Amino acid sequence: MSQILFHKCKICNANKHILYLASIDFDTSKKIYFLYKCYNCNIVFIYPYPSDKVLAKHYDDNYYGSDTSKFIFPIERFIQFLNNNKASIINKYIKLFHSISENKNLNILDIGCGRAQTLSKLSKLGYNCFSLERTEYQGIQTSSITCYKQNNLNSLPFADNYLHAVIIWHVLEHLKNPTNIISEIARVLNSDGILILSVPNISSLQYSIFKKNWFHLDVPRHLFHFNFNSLIPMLKKNKFEIIRLTTCSFEQNLFGFIQSSMNAILLFLPKNAFYNLLKASSKNFLDYLKLFLWVIISLLIIPFALFELTISKILKKGAVITIYAKQPKKF
Ligand SMILES: [Zn+2]
Repeated sequence: MSQILFHKCKICNANKHILYLASIDFDTSKKIYFLYKCYNCNIVFIYPYPSDKVLAKHYDDNYYGSDTSKFIFPIERFIQFLNNNKASIINKYIKLFHSISENKNLNILDIGCGRAQTLSKLSKLGYNCFSLERTEYQGIQTSSITCYKQNNLNSLPFADNYLHAVIIWHVLEHLKNPTNIISEIARVLNSDGILILSVPNISSLQYSIFKKNWFHLDVPRHLFHFNFNSLIPMLKKNKFEIIRLTTCSFEQNLFGFIQSSMNAILLFLPKNAFYNLLKASSKNFLDYLKLFLWVIISLLIIPFALFELTISKILKKGAVITIYAKQPKKF
């Protein structure tokens, strides 16, 4: 594979990129994908892009889980707790910038919402909730959320200024045209409308340590890998003002470190073997025995993961970039 790639960058339109990493696909460990880094904007991207047919195989029921559960019981409860907490923070920011006491008639969209746990909570708080998901995903069936399905998530079926908030949570890196969706979000957001965005951080300490074994690389589903240099100019170009920015997430940092360590040390096993065992698919006695052993190993890794979390926090090089941003006053 060539060290230098000449190809129009989908983020900045520059056309020269350097080979950054070769990584095996995380689901089957059968195919090698190449990642390039743009000389100009620092975005890292898979090239050649996987075809729609190849990608569809990586968004199967195993990826999404059922509409009721994706992970085993305690993990599922913890994720529900995190999503409820996220909904409370989003509610706080929307109220802060829209100066209202009632959530009625406020429209909120979650792009790539999966099982829509955050939206369900926001719906209970009184918001008009909309979701946008891939056509492959048949999960959510609820009258409280208006669901749209698209083959790709690159256009938004809403009029200009219709929404008060848009969530795009660990989704932007999956899309074929991130710049397009950010400008679409800016278009549909109202005056002072809030964007809530989170992506893995390719400039994180974790990536520097683990490289091709990094859990959040998720090849080939993650088509793009962002850092501050590639993400923030894209937001500013669309007039977003950043109101909160963090690079550390307790759960994403901690689990990312644990699974990446296992990927790096236990090379004879499939990537993400522990993560896959935590999913709710039916299990036999041997699976539960393996799960028990994995939990013991992860308990041994946790002190190192907490140390990495602390250092990442100090250096602002956490495993994710989470941004709350708002549109300017439009009228
Ligand atoms: Zn670029």
